[in-house]
Amino acid sequence: MEENKYYCPECGAEMYEKYEKPALNLICPKCGCILATTRWEKIDLDETEYEVIITSDINPNMDQIKAISKISGKNFIFAKNVIVNGGMVFKGRAAEVKNIISLLETNSLKYDIVPKFPY
Ligand SMILES: [Zn+2]
Repeated sequence: MEENKYYCPECGAEMYEKYEKPALNLICPKCGCILATTRWEKIDLDETEYEVIITSDINPNMDQIKAISKISGKNFIFAKNVIVNGGMVFKGRAAEVKNIISLLETNSLKYDIVPKFPY
């Protein structure tokens, strides 16, 4: 991978990067000049819409139903049905899907992501 080099506009010294999400700051080690830029991580730039699909579980517990209700924004009846039958509970961007995955895993829910989730 190619690394970009940045030079200080004040004194010409090579600047180093300090990444403080979501801003990337360039700092000059010689004169202390700071340039703020913005660089997003790959996951934030991903425009793909991912579908989160729950794998059927015939006997969901209350925590699992609550989690699916929260993810889908629908009521407990919908949530229970979607777990029992399996089905899509969310469609959206990678950064959101990542949060949902952690919630699913906390609640031991099985799922698929379509298309394949690379993060
Ligand atoms: Zn400088």
